Amino acid sequence: MAAILPPAMLGILGGGQLGRMFAVAAKTMGYRVTVLDPDENAPAAAFADRHIRAPYNDQAALRELADSCAAVTTEFENVNADAMRELARRTRVSPSGDCVAVAQDRIAEKAWINKAGLPTAPYLAIESVEDIQVDLAPYLPGILKTARLGYDGKGQVRVQTAAEARAAYANLGGQACVLEKMLDLQLEVSAIVTRVSSAQSAVFPVAENIHKNGILDESIVPARIAPALAKQAQEMARKLAEALDYVGVLAVEFFVLADDSLVVNEIAPRPHNSGHYTLTACLTDQFQQQVRAMCGLLPGRTDLLSPVVMVNLLGDVWKDNGHEPNWDVLAEAPNAQLHLYGKKQARPGRKMGHFNVMAASADEALDQARALKDTL
Ligand code: ADP
Ligand code: MG
Repeated sequence: MAAILPPAMLGILGGGQLGRMFAVAAKTMGYRVTVLDPDENAPAAAFADRHIRAPYNDQAALRELADSCAAVTTEFENVNADAMRELARRTRVSPSGDCVAVAQDRIAEKAWINKAGLPTAPYLAIESVEDIQVDLAPYLPGILKTARLGYDGKGQVRVQTAAEARAAYANLGGQACVLEKMLDLQLEVSAIVTRVSSAQSAVFPVAENIHKNGILDESIVPARIAPALAKQAQEMARKLAEALDYVGVLAVEFFVLADDSLVVNEIAPRPHNSGHYTLTACLTDQFQQQVRAMCGLLPGRTDLLSPVVMVNLLGDVWKDNGHEPNWDVLAEAPNAQLHLYGKKQARPGRKMGHFNVMAASADEALDQARALKDTL
């Protein structure tokens, strides 16, 4: 297929911070951007040429997006996979509706990861109340996760006993879930792959991710693991993209267990919070890769230019009911880059922005990043 070149119009489903950073990358390269998002204050709208304000399942709006854009992508997995398939009848769409469908359902996702020959935590798929009447010992203590619509630790309940698991399942209203064994994590890492075709893919350096309350707090790059293990995570990400015949940017989250083995946690069919460090520290960033992949251009080089730490800025930092944090020190730090998403309302747990700190080593960057966060 011929490459799509500037100044073509590119479309994105969803106008949150990921859509916003996608729009910046696309506009910088000379493309034009249309965002479909129902929210009039969608963060991406500020950088888009056009904002179609409509629900994601609005058929007329989807047709309008398809017919006015040379290619369409998405910034979140909870968009209806059927909407992606619908769009694909009229324009170039990546990732495919089938790939999005896999990523938005934990049951399909885990089955598919295992099918690709990669390990997940031991899990039980629970589609109806009969499914949870079996011996649950292999999955306990565990985490009950809703199969759909979970993010940032939402839709998850930690359970110790079979009785607790069954009660939690009932509490979630009987919706499809997975019960996953709680693993003893040494740490968590992620690898983000950009794939245009079998011959054309590139994997970013592996990030070490520290979560707080189920939400990403810090990413440290390079991850403080053996280089051979990092390489293995990159190869696993590449293998998953290959097995799915994936086109676009695919993020893969891993657990590193005590014995230095890797387990795939989950995947996201889009750029990922743990890849925001690439905005500062890589030759090509993950949003530029998204643009390149959807346009059929070769992925750019992913070399790490410097050790880097990314720190998320959640709404919790906006103390005293919406008062802006003290940006002065952070904004002026010569080796830090501040990114704010332009969201009007700061709420606890809401992703409002992030900053990247570059230094001679990951440990030094981490110390400086934490000190900078303390100034807010
Ligand atoms: P989300 O979609 O909300 O990111 P995840 O499945 O990635 O959901 O879970 C969020 C976090 O919870 C993980 O990053 C990890 O810290 C912890 N967690 C999830 N599953 C397990 C598990 N099986 N064992 C140990 N910790 C887990
Ligand atoms: Mg996760």
